[in-house]
Amino acid sequence: MNDFDTLQKEYRTCTRCPALCQSRSQVVFGSGNPQAKVLFIGEAPGATEDKEGIPFCGMSGKILQELLGTIGLVRDDVFITNTILCRPENNRNPDKKEVENCRERLDQLISIMKPKVIVTIGNFATERILKKKGITQLRGNIHDVELAGQKVIVIPVIHPANYLYNGRSPVIFEKMKTDFAVIGSIINLVQPTHK
Ligand code: URA
Repeated sequence: MNDFDTLQKEYRTCTRCPALCQSRSQVVFGSGNPQAKVLFIGEAPGATEDKEGIPFCGMSGKILQELLGTIGLVRDDVFITNTILCRPENNRNPDKKEVENCRERLDQLISIMKPKVIVTIGNFATERILKKKGITQLRGNIHDVELAGQKVIVIPVIHPANYLYNGRSPVIFEKMKTDFAVIGSIINLVQPTHK
């Protein structure tokens, strides 16, 4: 078993968060290509993700897929995970303790995958990775950081849920497409084959 599989197996039965053990029906570890050099990090699984065991497979996922398409990518070109792996009840926000409980897992994933680019989707993932708040200011910018001893380019983007919550605002969608164009140009630089 490789390190990725070992990590995934370890977290399949995680019991660090008592409330999440009650609300989840399964741990949603991630999906896509574990060898990808681009890692997307969202917030937490929602109801559909909890049912299917796949991150971003509901409404937000459809938007994410569409945005990936605008830069010539499909889900399997990247790896997608979340800040926390289990669905909070009634889709509440993850609490600080839950984000902390899932910290080591995400650090280990980054250390195993060694992504060149991390895309943080929304406030929670952005704050977790950049230790800064304010997606409105941070989005679409390139942040050079060192994570798990490796240099990584972090690009925060608006969460698709924000777009949906705002009645599919075309203004927000344009901003999202602009941010994905930044992702596309960076991937072309670090990984010309797009894989
Ligand atoms: N689905 C996910 O997997 N993560 C989110 O942040 C939102 C929807």
